[in-house]
Amino acid sequence: MNGDQADALVLFGITGDLAKKKLIPALYELTAEGRLDMPIVGTARSQWTDERLVDHVREVLQGRDEAIIDQLCSHLSYVEGDYQNPAVYDLISEKLGDAQLPVFFMAIPPSLFDDVATGLAGVGFATNGRLVVEKPFGRDLASAIELNEILHRHFHEDQIFRIDHFLGKEPVQNLLVFRFANVLLEPIWNRHHVASVMVTMSEAFGIEGRGRFYDGVGAIRDVIQNHLLQIVGLLAMEPPVSSEPDALRDEIVKVMSAIPALTPENVVRGRYDGYLDEPDVSPTSDTETFAAVRLEIDNWRWAGVPFFIRAGKGMDETVTEAVIELRQTPQDLFAPEGKPPANVIRFRMKPDDVISMSMQAKVPGDGLRAQGVDLTVDYGEALGGDGPDPYERLIGDALDGDPRLFARQDSVEEAWRIVEGVLDSTTPLHDYRRGSSGPDCASLLPGGLSWPQH
Ligand code: NDP
Repeated sequence: MNGDQADALVLFGITGDLAKKKLIPALYELTAEGRLDMPIVGTARSQWTDERLVDHVREVLQGRDEAIIDQLCSHLSYVEGDYQNPAVYDLISEKLGDAQLPVFFMAIPPSLFDDVATGLAGVGFATNGRLVVEKPFGRDLASAIELNEILHRHFHEDQIFRIDHFLGKEPVQNLLVFRFANVLLEPIWNRHHVASVMVTMSEAFGIEGRGRFYDGVGAIRDVIQNHLLQIVGLLAMEPPVSSEPDALRDEIVKVMSAIPALTPENVVRGRYDGYLDEPDVSPTSDTETFAAVRLEIDNWRWAGVPFFIRAGKGMDETVTEAVIELRQTPQDLFAPEGKPPANVIRFRMKPDDVISMSMQAKVPGDGLRAQGVDLTVDYGEALGGDGPDPYERLIGDALDGDPRLFARQDSVEEAWRIVEGVLDSTTPLHDYRRGSSGPDCASLLPGGLSWPQH
């Protein structure tokens, strides 16, 4: 079934924010590529009609190519109803006509997944349909397991596509290509040569009016449990045995299962000044806007190498990157004042898609002295363009039945296991100044391991 081309698309929650910001623009791009020549049903609770949906889509896509918008709109229809009412699924089924392999995108609160999965099964779509499920996938390990059980009541794992839109980003996929399409890195990609790995997602903005969503969630649930642990998986995994989707996902889950559960002494949580004054934030909130964690991967390749993850809002810059620091040279032949700084490999994923390697080179002139220089490639620029938006890529993959970039049940549950012991108020919350680099992790993380300064 995976690998077969879908012949219809149903978007639950079409009137919502995600649909407006991400899904409708993705539908436009997929139409432009000629990949959406199929019935597209939007559904939600609002009393909209087909015409009202078309107007909404036109408004969202204002300024884009009218011919493509017309083409997209010619496939659209709307089903109104509460997902707790089984009659909605009959209406959807009618709209889908004789579609054999529909994709159902759930841009709805997770509390409705049960109703929707049951409703779809009731009208016979559990045999062939694919479910695309948005994050958050649970609030902790128990709720993630429960959610999986709910979906598995009617759908097989290979019909469930859990979106982690981070995996749809070009520079994130490039981690994989850079590692496994070059032989250069493999000999040094291990505990003998790597001193530390740091994954950072720093945002210069705050919660931007999204207090209702963010408060009670926080940095660990919002980005560390999913996006950033997946990046650790891509950085640390063994080469997959083939290009089959499950070969890749097997290796990621092996990395996850080798990471011991985090304990409070390996976590620093912070909150930017003024967070409690944000709209829709509880005055007694204990939610972190910053978290840094130190973890280990207990396997032959990585034992003893600290992996750091830090994520924060209200920071000094907006950057997502992974920095691999190699070990220092054993001798200081060229730097009389001490050993030269270690080589650093940097995968910058935001704001630009850049790979750089800091190397030591001879300072021109007399003597033999080393100085750091960066070998830098902006591969977005070098290879032309930024590639598709993650939602375009992932909806396209779901239509194609390619689950490679979707999180599998076992890796989602492993990721919750890793963070489970440090959620909520298990660790102190340190205030930090907006526009700073967050709390001083080097002094707050005990245990003698240095906090990388890159
Ligand atoms: P919204 O609240 O904006 O939209 C929710 C949608 O679900 C609306 O279309 C709403 O219909 C529909 N809905 C809710 N309850 C029912 C019901 N009982 N019966 C029928 N329809 C219902 O949420 P978002 O679009 O922001 O988020 C949707 C999902 O995507 C959530 O799980 C969220 O966590 C996730 N997500 C959102 C992101 C974003 O940027 N917005 C980013 C990443 C994930 P109506 O309004 O017509 O009542």
